[in-house]
Amino acid sequence: MCNTCGCLNYTMDDLVWYRYRCSNCGHVYKSTGQRSVCPHCRSDDVKKVRST
Ligand SMILES: [Zn+2]
Repeated sequence: MCNTCGCLNYTMDDLVWYRYRCSNCGHVYKSTGQRSVCPHCRSDDVKKVRST
């Protein structure tokens, strides 16, 4: 975040990676997308989990 004006300066390096857990098969994976499908079983029944 820019200290002078408070604007958000995103770059490619600042991409936010979300961690998802598939409710169908339990597979956990990372994605940058807001919506995602499980790469393991192709289910879209996935939930975003907080990465600590
Ligand atoms: Zn799955």
